[in-house]
Amino acid sequence: MIVDKLGRRFRNLRVSLTAACNYACTYCVPDGKRLMKAQNELPATELLKAVTYLQQAAGIDKLRITGGEPMVTPKFDDFLLGVMELPLSDVSMTTNGQLVLKKLEVIRASGVKRINISLDTLNPLRFKQIARGGDLTTVLKGIDALLELGLKVKINMVPIRTQNASDVVPMLEYCLARGIELRYIELMRMGHLANSNSFQADFMSMTTLLDMIGENYEFERTDAPYDSTAVRFRIPGKGTFGIIANESEPFCTSCTRLRLSSDGYLYGCLSSSRKQYIGDLLNQPSHLALPRLQGILVSALADKQLVFQGEVTVMKLIGG
Ligand code: SAM
Repeated sequence: MIVDKLGRRFRNLRVSLTAACNYACTYCVPDGKRLMKAQNELPATELLKAVTYLQQAAGIDKLRITGGEPMVTPKFDDFLLGVMELPLSDVSMTTNGQLVLKKLEVIRASGVKRINISLDTLNPLRFKQIARGGDLTTVLKGIDALLELGLKVKINMVPIRTQNASDVVPMLEYCLARGIELRYIELMRMGHLANSNSFQADFMSMTTLLDMIGENYEFERTDAPYDSTAVRFRIPGKGTFGIIANESEPFCTSCTRLRLSSDGYLYGCLSSSRKQYIGDLLNQPSHLALPRLQGILVSALADKQLVFQGEVTVMKLIGG
């Protein structure tokens, strides 16, 4: 097991199936461009091989499927069904939900239990302005369908002062009414926001969010697992919500995440653009591949930071 001085080790793997996306969210991509795959993306078979090797070399036991938008790629079905066969303690997925209705049968057949839907507003016009693609009604129907299937659904919202601040409380109400845990994600200095002048004006801190919620609900802080990304709160008798407070309360010192991009690079830290190519290891037998992978993982673990500083890496390339 590879462990650093802070006791951090890789346990959670996030696999970006493709960099392509059917949205072009204002805070994720700068110019409204979308649907761009990375060059030389790996097929499902090789991504699954990478997961197997990373389980053996790093002790990965939790996996999240992400993107880009994971459901836009034809390899989604094979990867999801394949990964559910692996001995992992938890498999989950982050999606914008636009294609959930079309993928409902494979989701059901796979047995996956947890899905996070990224949704920033309940207002159709604002939805179009922020996502620059897709359709709100389709997403809401997808959420209902997942709940009917009995899946545990969480919703991720990125509050942005100039765009969806008025959705902060209505989104919470929507989630509480459905037994969904809402997680506000503090805007991160990623991609074009790393050096953007508008970041400060758009950023809404955990304190700001809690003040807004506190005008409507009484809440108390509650437990979160050791390596959880979210600070969690309970509204007695109604439900829970969380805040992923990258800026206000960074979780870097207990971070166990490792990211694999769709084109075969490992990223040890969201706040570092350093990456290591492992695509060439995947055709090698394990007795040759695993020792090399161990060396790469030592280097990737050393990339982990103490605080989140932001990075020019675009989120859609490596998943959130
Ligand atoms: N397409 C999928 C989705 O929408 O969930 C998965 C990929 S998306 C990059 C993963 C998450 O990253 C989304 O919840 C999105 O809101 C979040 N995200 C992207 N850019 C961000 C930023 N600059 N700050 C905070 N969250 C961001």
